Amino acid sequence: MTAPDGPDSPGTFADLELRPELLQELTGLGYEEPTPIQREAIPPLLAGRDLLGQAATGTGKTAAFALPILQRLATGSRGKDPVALVLAPTRELAMQVSEALHRYGRTLGARVLPVYGGQPISRQLRELQRGVDVVVATPGRALDHISRGTLRLGSLEMIVLDEADEMLDMGFTEDIEAILSAAPEGRQTVLFSATMPPPIERVARRHLRDPLRIQIQREPVASGTSPKVRQSAYVVARPHKPAALGRVLDVEAPGSAIIFCRTREEVDTLAETLNGRGYRAEALHGGLSQEQRDRVMGRLRSGTAELLVATDVAARGLDVEQLTHVINYNVPSAPEAYVHRIGRVGRAGREGIAITLAEPREHRMLKTIERLTGQKIAVEKIPTVADLRTRRLELTRAALRESLLEDELERFRTVVEQLTDEFDVMDVALAAVKLAHEAGGVDIDEEEDIPEIAARPDRPDTPTRGRPDTRATGSDTRGTGPDRRRAGPKGDTTRLYIGMGRAAGIRPQDLVGAIAGESSLSGRDIGAIEIADRFSLVEIPLPAANEVIAALRGTLIKGRKATVRRERHDAG
Ligand code: AMP
Repeated sequence: MTAPDGPDSPGTFADLELRPELLQELTGLGYEEPTPIQREAIPPLLAGRDLLGQAATGTGKTAAFALPILQRLATGSRGKDPVALVLAPTRELAMQVSEALHRYGRTLGARVLPVYGGQPISRQLRELQRGVDVVVATPGRALDHISRGTLRLGSLEMIVLDEADEMLDMGFTEDIEAILSAAPEGRQTVLFSATMPPPIERVARRHLRDPLRIQIQREPVASGTSPKVRQSAYVVARPHKPAALGRVLDVEAPGSAIIFCRTREEVDTLAETLNGRGYRAEALHGGLSQEQRDRVMGRLRSGTAELLVATDVAARGLDVEQLTHVINYNVPSAPEAYVHRIGRVGRAGREGIAITLAEPREHRMLKTIERLTGQKIAVEKIPTVADLRTRRLELTRAALRESLLEDELERFRTVVEQLTDEFDVMDVALAAVKLAHEAGGVDIDEEEDIPEIAARPDRPDTPTRGRPDTRATGSDTRGTGPDRRRAGPKGDTTRLYIGMGRAAGIRPQDLVGAIAGESSLSGRDIGAIEIADRFSLVEIPLPAANEVIAALRGTLIKGRKATVRRERHDAG
């Protein structure tokens, strides 16, 4: 497979001619290369052009305008009034943007002030009075300060409207018009919006001078997406991401997975967290020497490590045969990057699995990716602690049933008989089950629950005055029953017993691959999969049972012939 140009085309931050102070911060943050929007927007912005950019959250658009703003700051002493004003729809976004400006502008000593409703105005007044370089504000509060005379626009060289469509949707049109009209004529104006409806075009026509138009993800993605890749996503708030990832890893039990992160720091931190949680993870990023890289790859190939945590740059050109899962710890900054990443699994006719953890704000980016690849990314529910507990009890029950059916229990009879002199036989059984259960897995009592969230929990800082909120929320594909992670079969189902399990190195994808490869079923038709030590149970549509059994009996799984039959229901 040849890698098309796009997110993989070379180009560094230094090529963009950013100031050394900024380059220093970016290196410190572990940003290895600019994202497509940064590559396209930064040079014209540095040259002073107005810009109309269509890009969603997750593309790196904040840095695309933040770096040019910071580049403008004088090196010596600075005035009291801001040289740049960024308008954002919600206080959350205002805070995020302000933090980003603060981070990138640390060496420069940039004075950045977020200004939004709900925060005591006195503190904002004090800071404004003391002098600021950049103000990041929600429109209502910005206008409030402007009319009080506490936010003076006289020194403004640059105004940025971030997520302009959201601001208009929230009824901020008049406020924005008023602010833009109050700003100096000669300033530079930048407008970023995920969509470009007519009202945005009107604002742009009125307030931007000959803007350069940039549309990220305009290129249709090559038809290279493998249809063999099952794609799903979980919407999860940032603080819960490590826990959510752990949960997903537990359920998916990948044989060998690559987890993509955005920065070196994220790679290092996540690898450490995963190792702390008992996974065998290796970090791979551009900061490693060739020798270290080779060592990491060796450990992955030999199976000493099961998870590779990597940046896009580091993973470039890397070819790991046995990869079963690609996990995006964040939504990638461009759909092309997504396609490249998931192209690493689903090879050689086996089904690969791509899983994306998306923050609520990145929901729109998922939709863009879906549109461009023409393939659905099922948004699924993170398994809850209760789900996991049910699942593990179910595994214990299934293991005990198998043991009962195998009937090699005679030598334990005396133990039971001795105990029943003293205890009820039911209590003896319960204690035995408890021991078997505890021996089988991790104690999940201490696991935190991960709150289920809608796609966009942000609240505007003033009441919505525009049209009703019609945003999409959370999941749109949910299975039923305790295992809700896959679309699963429709109609009546049955379970197949397959006489190979964890001990034989069986993983869910082996079973999905074997069934989808040998029968008329596709991965989507296959329901819950349970893998015990010595056997597995797979849920499939009832009408396909005979066909699948015959197909699996005629093939090898992991190089071996396995017993395949319907699950016996003698124990209920
Ligand atoms: P944004 O689309 O601006 O919300 O950015 C999304 C995320 O990408 C933020 O967490 C940034 O810190 C991160 N980010 C932005 N640019 C880069 C880059 N060039 N390399 C790595 N991460 C980046």
